[in-house]
Amino acid sequence: MKKKTGNLSLPGRLLSPIKVFLEKELVLLKRRKKQLKKNDPFFAENRANENSFEEDLDEQIGHFDNEVKAKFLSKEIVQFRTALTRMKIGKYGICEKCGKMIDTDRLAVQPEATMCIKCSKKSEE
Ligand SMILES: [Zn+2]
Repeated sequence: MKKKTGNLSLPGRLLSPIKVFLEKELVLLKRRKKQLKKNDPFFAENRANENSFEEDLDEQIGHFDNEVKAKFLSKEIVQFRTALTRMKIGKYGICEKCGKMIDTDRLAVQPEATMCIKCSKKSEE
């Protein structure tokens, strides 16, 4: 009897639109991150040295807000890159942790997912 092949990857005709989507999103994410840096009050060219307390507070909040967003974007960028890399090596749609097929419903909503729901929940804990 033929041994079951481990080839669980999705067919190319399904992969190519996903690849296009991931690449497009990656460009957008990078652009947003760049924009974020520009908007950071800490890096603003016209930043006053003698701010009032309120202005200082505004800057702090704006900076903090930007930092949080930038962190989130960085995470997203890594996620999209990983998904694209996995596609390159023919492992797209296969969970990084347990090696099982990721639910296609999950991939439809989150094409950049590289872990199945179970493992991703575990890694977030
Ligand atoms: Zn898994």
